[in-house]
Amino acid sequence: MTKEKIAVLGLGIMGSGMARQLLAAGFDVTVWNRSPGKAAPLTQAGARAAATPAEAVADAAIVVAMLADDSVSRAVWMGEGGALAAMAPGAIAIESSTLTGAWIADLAQAASARGVRFLEAPVTGSRDQAAQGALRFLVGGEADVVAAARGVFDAMGSALVHLGPVGSAATVKLANNYLCGVQAASLAEAVALFEKRGLDVEQAMSILTDGAPASPMVKAVGRRMLDRDYAPHFLVPLMAKDLGYAAQTMASAGIRSSIAEAARQRFLEADAAGEGHRDIAAIVEPLRRT
Ligand code: NAP
Repeated sequence: MTKEKIAVLGLGIMGSGMARQLLAAGFDVTVWNRSPGKAAPLTQAGARAAATPAEAVADAAIVVAMLADDSVSRAVWMGEGGALAAMAPGAIAIESSTLTGAWIADLAQAASARGVRFLEAPVTGSRDQAAQGALRFLVGGEADVVAAARGVFDAMGSALVHLGPVGSAATVKLANNYLCGVQAASLAEAVALFEKRGLDVEQAMSILTDGAPASPMVKAVGRRMLDRDYAPHFLVPLMAKDLGYAAQTMASAGIRSSIAEAARQRFLEADAAGEGHRDIAAIVEPLRRT
């Protein structure tokens, strides 16, 4: 049986793994990326590459976007050569990037005005889960649209949580990354402290990773900090973006999150210090150098 035509917009660390999983599941996949070179491994695996978002989505039943931030999402869906105006009525737009609820609400409205069905579906999991089809999708939107897109989610992920109407998933995803960002920032400070005090850092770290602070985040990112392994799973500027979006979201609910702002500063400092192309574990580097 021929499977549906799917378009994937954005072939970064996450989008490339997601597109590959769709191909592996037998979908007919067209990809688009700003930097066209990233499409090459996917065309070798059977995808078609399009020159613009509009070209990629023209005959797609479902479009999945995995892009950096609100402004990129806006340009790719609604800018010149953008996806939304080229989609067929009744097709499904899935926005999986980590974005603000405010932008997601605007995008959902624009999709609805064109007769395009819309889901927000940010993910938990990182580079490795994207590559393995093991992401968890946090979904906001109508239940019948979630059901219609189920096969695509199943190809890219191992779990789906339908959190409610559009906007629900952005709220939960930003809270999720808020807690992750704060943990990574405080961990970087602790690692730098251990090193500056001349402690046995492996032993000191084991107290954190075996004790109450242990979390998958602390364990994985702590290991990478100690190993100075900064091959990107999740890039420094994207966590700064998420902490900024989390602070804005909190503020819109009347909560002033000085904690999100403080953690965000650590990521901005690391970006300014030249660590922007590296994994979030690299935020320890500027602290090591002070
Ligand atoms: P990434 O590797 O940096 O990819 C970013 C994507 O956005 C690339 O396709 C990039 O295109 C595109 N892009 C950036 N600026 C653009 C512009 N001005 N115009 C058009 N396209 C542009 O990041 P990622 O890790 O895949 O993250 C993608 C999204 O997933 C982000 O919202 C991130 O917060 C979220 N996320 C990431 C993780 C993770 O662990 N990595 C986990 C969950 C969610 P180019 O290739 O041309 O630069």
